[in-house]
Amino acid sequence: MHTNIEGHEVIAARAARLEVRGLDKRFAADAPVLSGVSLDVAPGAILALLGPSGCGKTTLLRCIAGLESPDAGCVTLDNRELVGIDVSIAPERRGVGMVFQDPALFPHMNVAKNVALGVQRAERRGPRVSEALALVGMDGYEERTPDQLSGGQQQRVAIARAVAARPKVLLLDEPFSDLDARLRSELRGELRELLAKLGTTAIFVTHDQEEALLIGDEVAVMLDGVIAQRDAASVVYEQPATRDVATFLGDAEFVACEANGDHADTPFGRVPLHHRVCGAVEILLRPERLDVRPGGEALIDGVEFYGHDAVYRLLLPSGVRVRARVVGPPAFGEGDRVGVRFTGPPTQAYPLSQEGARG
Ligand code: ATP
Repeated sequence: MHTNIEGHEVIAARAARLEVRGLDKRFAADAPVLSGVSLDVAPGAILALLGPSGCGKTTLLRCIAGLESPDAGCVTLDNRELVGIDVSIAPERRGVGMVFQDPALFPHMNVAKNVALGVQRAERRGPRVSEALALVGMDGYEERTPDQLSGGQQQRVAIARAVAARPKVLLLDEPFSDLDARLRSELRGELRELLAKLGTTAIFVTHDQEEALLIGDEVAVMLDGVIAQRDAASVVYEQPATRDVATFLGDAEFVACEANGDHADTPFGRVPLHHRVCGAVEILLRPERLDVRPGGEALIDGVEFYGHDAVYRLLLPSGVRVRARVVGPPAFGEGDRVGVRFTGPPTQAYPLSQEGARG
């Protein structure tokens, strides 16, 4: 038990370990949507699940929540099987809460009644509703109906409804994607604090990389129904397991070059590598890793200004084109000649792909 900002006593939900093993799902004769998906989420941890539209993120959450039945695999919560061979616990008995992109509040019910829907036992409704609304900063709004709330407030109420049920696991499916950028970033921060306060195990689905890196203790990248990589956010960013993960998470360029053990020799200098490899490879180049200095042979043939940073399009003397991202306003203009050098920690090398070989 602990105390929240307003002094209310808050009983944190009991955090649980979520284990997903070998989930397969296919709709009718379509291609598989989930192929052998396995995931563990430690008690109280937040896993950000990131992937492009249609890769199967929602289907995975729905299988965990019991809104969809997998064709194979199992899901357990603290070793209690929720779904598996001959087992399928009803959604409302799983201890799994879900928040969707659409707050889905009942328009004819006030805020308090909407939140009370999450609490099964009548005698617990009053205190649980007050507690949950206080947690999301919506106390005082009990009597309002959803049409008297902003989009952000509606989503806060939807989160309160899920939290009021004291789920052991909270699944959040792109809860902020309908909100504008400023509100989104505000709510992200609030949610991070709320989840830490509650200690609830959570999976947060998003296709926004920044959101995933910010919210997740760990990030799982899902591509075409498969978990392509799952690691600490900084590891997924710095050491993407595949070219596809690198492309999906962050700005990535690939440069064909020769690897010589712990480094590669490139048109912009010696580049340290995470893993020893020799021969023809493509290295991952994050544009912010290039340092641009006055005096040199590289030609700037384009400048993009984004406010907080700028991108130079560069043509190197070897004919290779790369981009460099620099903080603040650009110091050079189109037509200037500059020196370009790789800086920062080691990068990844991938076997030279067909595409890379052609390029
Ligand atoms: P988004 O980010 O756009 O929400 P997603 O990664 O959550 O995408 P899913 O909603 O899980 O993806 O959908 C994965 C695939 O499964 C899609 O091709 C979708 O059309 C298909 N699909 C999902 N639900 C059904 C269904 N009930 N019947 C048939 N196909 C479905």
